[in-house]
Amino acid sequence: MSIRLKSAKDLAGLRESGAILADVLCELASAAQTGIRLEELDRLARAALKRRKATPTFLNYRPEGANHPYPAALCTSVNDQVVHGLPNTYQLRKGDLLKIDLGVTYKGYITDSATTVGVGKVSPKARRLMQATREALEAGIAACVPGGHLGDIGHAVERTARRAGCRVIRGLTGHGVGFKLHEDPPVPNSGKKGIGMSLPVGLVIAIEPMLATGSGDTIQREDESYATADGSLSAHFEHTIAITEDGCEILTAR
Ligand code: MG
Ligand code: MG
Repeated sequence: MSIRLKSAKDLAGLRESGAILADVLCELASAAQTGIRLEELDRLARAALKRRKATPTFLNYRPEGANHPYPAALCTSVNDQVVHGLPNTYQLRKGDLLKIDLGVTYKGYITDSATTVGVGKVSPKARRLMQATREALEAGIAACVPGGHLGDIGHAVERTARRAGCRVIRGLTGHGVGFKLHEDPPVPNSGKKGIGMSLPVGLVIAIEPMLATGSGDTIQREDESYATADGSLSAHFEHTIAITEDGCEILTAR
């Protein structure tokens, strides 16, 4: 594993990148209303980033093992889709659970954040899942203190999920971020307290609990998006955070 810690100067750049991302994600979340097409959200994201002189990190990104470079700025995943959903012509319907995931590059600094939006009125089950996922992210972030361990984060995330009667999605993790979209270390959504690398000041990671109301197993679809294997609902919240002297700083706070 090769981990590149971030300096105070890097953090200043990441803060700017994260503020832009937070702004744009808010704009997209309010635009995610009944009747809008996913591809329109993608266009909105591109225009909003351009106005802020930032670029969408996912566009043309090619993760290891992927067959094609990613053709959009956003990932938009609906209902049982978990992540990597392609913004297509699908028109949002009342009751949909939409996950919007966005990466921003600004002056070379990369941040990554995601949110889940209920379109119109969603079911009580969907609301509980969203709430549990948001709380799992908060619990993961609360475990980010210098001298803490990577396993503490996953432990906090998974415990929060289970208490709410949800499961974490297996096989998908958070990651280091900052100079590249995916850096070391992987940040799993399950783990044991006190296990794994200790968290050094200057470590920048994306924590991203993905929870499901069902088993947590996934399938990969033809478009390379991941969906729950049992068709159950999923939610996803993500922040980029930095480990600081006295805890952590959320770089993509909205
Ligand atoms: Mg993301
Ligand atoms: Mg991420």
